[in-house]
Amino acid sequence: MARPRSAKGRARLANDRLTEIYPGTVRELCELDFGDPFELLTATILSAQTTDVRVNMVTPELFNRYPTPDDLANADPEELEGIIRTTGFFRSKARSLIGMATALVERYDGVVPRAMADLVTVPGVGRKTANVVRSVALDEPGLPVDTHVLRLSHRLKLTEATDPVQAELDLNRFIPPAQRGLFSLRMILHGRRVCFARRPNCAACVLNDFCPSAQL
Ligand code: SF4
Repeated sequence: MARPRSAKGRARLANDRLTEIYPGTVRELCELDFGDPFELLTATILSAQTTDVRVNMVTPELFNRYPTPDDLANADPEELEGIIRTTGFFRSKARSLIGMATALVERYDGVVPRAMADLVTVPGVGRKTANVVRSVALDEPGLPVDTHVLRLSHRLKLTEATDPVQAELDLNRFIPPAQRGLFSLRMILHGRRVCFARRPNCAACVLNDFCPSAQL
């Protein structure tokens, strides 16, 4: 295939190639363990500044102790902090979790809202977290831009934006709504496994024949 010359062409080809090597649904590709949107929202808030593996180590006990937003909203902060301590920043995360659950109970009948405009009003929920929950648990379009997605998008020259929100809007022009969550998850996996921040493994990369940053 000819080397794509536009950002759109590179985004589409990257999407196709990454789909081949990382097949599966959003639920299968998401490395956080969860059962419903409330659990994914909880796990995503906990995943800030730590690994999904570490989050998955605390969520079984957490979900068991606080199975509903109402339970979490009424959690004893010290007990909650003890359960999530190993994920780091546990005091502020506990505050966010209780604030998030309280907002769900008080404003959304204990249900995670679907609309981006509503989700980002919930304590602890930024646009990235809202996009994760929308795309992975609610079957809505959403393209979370984290550090991996941003780095790969720059290396592939899909966007020059350094602001994640602007990068998301740029990528949205190239990736159809139904594939945005999948694209983000695949870019994250590729960033973790091949396109490392320090020394990308370009020789082993399936995008190296058209990536403008490939070093071979
Ligand atoms: S070719 Fe290299 S820089 Fe480009 S996406 Fe692959 S690993 Fe990253």
